[in-house]
Amino acid sequence: MRSSVFFYPTLRETPQEAQIASHRLMLRSGMITQVTAGIYTWLPLGLKVLTKIANIVREEQDRAGSLEVLMPTIQPAELWEKSGRYHDYGKEMLRMKDRHEREMLYGPTAEEVITDIFARFIKSYRDLPKRFYNIQWKFRDEIRPRFGVMRGREFLMKDNYSFDLNFEGAKASYQAMLEAYVKTFARMDLTAIPVRAASGAIGGNLSHEFQILAETGESEIFYDVDYENLDVNTLTLDRLQSLYAAADELHDPKNCPVPQERLKTARGIEVGHVFYFGTKYSVPLGAYVMGPDNKQVPVEMGSYGIGISRLVGAIIEAHHNEDGIKWPESVAPFKVGLLNLNVKNQDCTRLCDDLYTKLLQKGVEVLYDDRDMGPGAKFADLDLIGLPWQIIIGPRSVGSGQCELKNRRTGEKIELSLEDALKRV
Ligand code: ATP
Ligand code: MG
Repeated sequence: MRSSVFFYPTLRETPQEAQIASHRLMLRSGMITQVTAGIYTWLPLGLKVLTKIANIVREEQDRAGSLEVLMPTIQPAELWEKSGRYHDYGKEMLRMKDRHEREMLYGPTAEEVITDIFARFIKSYRDLPKRFYNIQWKFRDEIRPRFGVMRGREFLMKDNYSFDLNFEGAKASYQAMLEAYVKTFARMDLTAIPVRAASGAIGGNLSHEFQILAETGESEIFYDVDYENLDVNTLTLDRLQSLYAAADELHDPKNCPVPQERLKTARGIEVGHVFYFGTKYSVPLGAYVMGPDNKQVPVEMGSYGIGISRLVGAIIEAHHNEDGIKWPESVAPFKVGLLNLNVKNQDCTRLCDDLYTKLLQKGVEVLYDDRDMGPGAKFADLDLIGLPWQIIIGPRSVGSGQCELKNRRTGEKIELSLEDALKRV
């Protein structure tokens, strides 16, 4: 993509309304723009990141044996009356009426819709277990939308719902999701710590929140310092389970299983949440199956959310410096920024054009800054938008065949030949 064609309206000034780094950097790099309180348009640069995050989440959900569906954003009040949540949900729910005066709502979550689908189609224990998920916009009329996409009113969520014959099965689904979550967040270079959650409004017996450590986080958490050094690739299931168990017990500080020297407290951003809630929805919505003993039983359920749009902010909170974002490669909007220091110099531009073509041929995602601007502003923009690699080519490169390769994360710069730069990225 050529910068001259692309659209990323970067800002030099720090926007007044942004209190935390990720919000400031998302506005300044032209990833998002606010439409009204807590509601944003995702501009091309931001949308690329959002899509990459959604795809990582999708891959790990699929790998964990879940089936993707796409439920609507608008739901009928009727379903929520059946579960009893229509009146309980309160002002966070955006309610509306259609032309026939039927009460509708913009879905804040989808337990009712998916349980109703299950009830209509699945009748036998032989079809269990089943896990359905979707990646869809949700609306919650938050009392205080803030921190940009971190606490929006409209936000993108992955929500998965598991259906099992009994508690043992439900526990296995829960474990499968815990594992999928650890892998998902690790792929985004995030250390997400599962902490035992207080029973929330969805009302579960068992529930964990996944928290990213960040000073600007809204929750205070206690955790085992071992989490900071988890290597997901060598993680055994036993080890994972003992850490979860420890996280559970932390709820009860008197019997804390984590030795004092390993116990840490920090602030966290909640990026995911897993719940087991038994038959809370299956009973009122009629999701029963025929069991092996020919008796009808209500299915055991759980639900599993990931805040995909919130993750964009959370990743930036974890990966930035004063100059801008430092994207992990897996979610970067482009892998490489190619910077032409002097577009008026025809030889230099030819060199850049040539490298750009070669990068595209190799399938490398590259943003080519071919704009007619001073080098200072170009360097600043490239650091701000935080692509993992920068290749800098100037008039001197014409004679020497050398360019500069900068690693945005480490700040390390090296001089090397154009061919070597091509090989490196
Ligand atoms: P919070 O305590 O932050 O309000 P929640 O417990 O209400 O979160 P869940 O109902 O568990 O959230 O939703 C699943 C995930 O959706 C959360 O873990 C979070 O990452 C994300 N999420 C929830 N509310 C918002 C919001 N207003 N803006 C952006 N993401 C959100
Ligand atoms: Mg909430």
